[in-house]
Amino acid sequence: MSTDHVVIIGGGVMGSSLAYWLTRLEPTLAVTVLERDPSYEHASSALSAASIRQQFSTPVNIRISQASIEFLRNVGAELCVDEDHPDIQLREDGYLYLAGTEGMARLRAAHAAQRALGADVALLDRAQLGSNYRWLNAADLALGALGLRGEGWFDGYALLTAFGRKARSQGARYVKAEVCGFDIDAGRVTAVLTAQGSRLPCNHAVNAAGPWSRHIAALAGVDLPVFARRRSVYLISCPTEIKPFPLLIDPSGFWIRPDGKRFIAGFSPFDDPNDAPLTPDYAAFETHLWPLLSHRIPAFEAARLERAWAGYFEMNTFDHNAILGTHRSLANLMFMNGFSGHGMQQSPIIGRALAELILHGRFTSLDLSDLLFARIDDNRPLHEANVIG
Ligand SMILES: Cc1cc2nc3c(=O)[nH]c(=O)nc-3n(C[C@H](O)[C@H](O)[C@H](O)COP(=O)(O)OP(=O)(O)OC[C@H]3O[C@@H](n4cnc5c(N)ncnc54)[C@H](O)[C@@H]3O)c2cc1C
Repeated sequence: MSTDHVVIIGGGVMGSSLAYWLTRLEPTLAVTVLERDPSYEHASSALSAASIRQQFSTPVNIRISQASIEFLRNVGAELCVDEDHPDIQLREDGYLYLAGTEGMARLRAAHAAQRALGADVALLDRAQLGSNYRWLNAADLALGALGLRGEGWFDGYALLTAFGRKARSQGARYVKAEVCGFDIDAGRVTAVLTAQGSRLPCNHAVNAAGPWSRHIAALAGVDLPVFARRRSVYLISCPTEIKPFPLLIDPSGFWIRPDGKRFIAGFSPFDDPNDAPLTPDYAAFETHLWPLLSHRIPAFEAARLERAWAGYFEMNTFDHNAILGTHRSLANLMFMNGFSGHGMQQSPIIGRALAELILHGRFTSLDLSDLLFARIDDNRPLHEANVIG
C-alpha cells in the first residue's frame, strides 16, 4: 500500500486525466487536485475546439494521436461510473489540410512521416479536391491531405467532466483552492501552499495549470516558456447545406469545422500579445476571417456570425510542443504544459505518461522522451511542422 501523496495543480483536462490514470494504475495512492475555479469559466478545456488529428509531422505527436483516438473511441467504457457511460460525441469526419504550390513540399513530407507510422491519410490533387468538395474553391490550391480515419472532433467539456468524475470515483480528491507557493528543501518540493492558508505535504507536485502554468513554475523558481495567447472562436451559420465537410485547414491560416448544423472557425492572429483579455475579437471576423472564408467557400458569402468566444492557448514559445517531466532544478515537480493548441486531443495519453513517470520514473507504454523538459535547457527544439498556432 502506497503512502505517497501527489498534488496536482489545476483540474482541467490535463490534471483530471492524470488524476484518473494515477488512481487507476495505483489505487492506493493519495491524489489531490487543487482547482481554483471548479466552474472552469476561463479554462482552455472548457473553451476548446476539441478536435483530433493524426496529421502531425513528428513521430512522437503522430504516435500520441494514434493512441489517443483509441482511448477516445472507448471512452464510454474507460470512464464509465456506476453504469453511466459518458458520451463525448466523437465524430471521425477527418481533417483536410490544404496547400498552394508553396506549401506542397511540406504537406508531402508530413504525409510521408504519417504514412510511415501507418496513419491513414490520403493526398488529393486539385482535380480531386474539386470533385470531392464541390463547395470548395480549389482554383489556387495544389494539394490536400485528408485523414481517412482517426481524425475529427468531440465534446471536450464532456471529456473533462468524464475524467474528473472517474478520477473521483477512484479516490481522487478535488479541492477548491488557489496555489500560491511551495515549500522547497534540498531540491525537492515538500509541500504545496494555497491562498486559503493550507499546506499540503507531498511526494510529487504537478503543474497542470494550462495557460497559467508559467506563474506556477515561477513560484518554484523555474522559467517555463509558456504564455497565455488569446484565440477567438466564431460560431457561424450558413443557409446552404454543405456536405461532406471535414475540419479544413486553409493555407491562409484559418480553420473551420462543422458544429452540429453550424460551423466554428478561428485563425492565428498576427498581433499576439500575452494575457489579452478573454473577449473575442469581433472586428477580426469582418476584416480578416470572413473574406478568407468566402474566398475558399463561396457559399459563405451568405454566412452569419451567430456568436463568438475566446480562450487561451497555452503557447510554448520555445517549440510549440508539450513540455513534460521535471526541470533539472527540482526532482519532484512535474510539468505537463505548453500544448500550444493541441492539448485536448493529447490529454488521454499525456495523463497516462505522467502517471508512469510518477509511479515508475520512466515511460512504460509510449516513449515520450522527445517531449521532456530537458530539451529546453539543452536548446534542442522539436520541430513540428503542423502546428495550428
Ligand atoms: C479556442 C481554443 C481552441 C482549441 N482547440 C483545440 C483543438 O481543436 N484540439 C486540441 O487538442 N486542443 C485544442 N485546444 C487546446 C486545449 O484545449 C488545451 O491544450 C487543453 O485544454 C489544456 O488543458 P489544461 O488542463 O492544461 O488547461 P486548462 O483547461 O486551462 O486547465 C488549467 C486549470 O488550472 C487552474 N489553475 C490555474 N492556476 C491555478 C492556481 N494557481 N491554483 C489552482 N488552480 C489553478 C485553472 O483554473 C484551470 O482550470 C484549444 C484551446 C483553445 C483555447
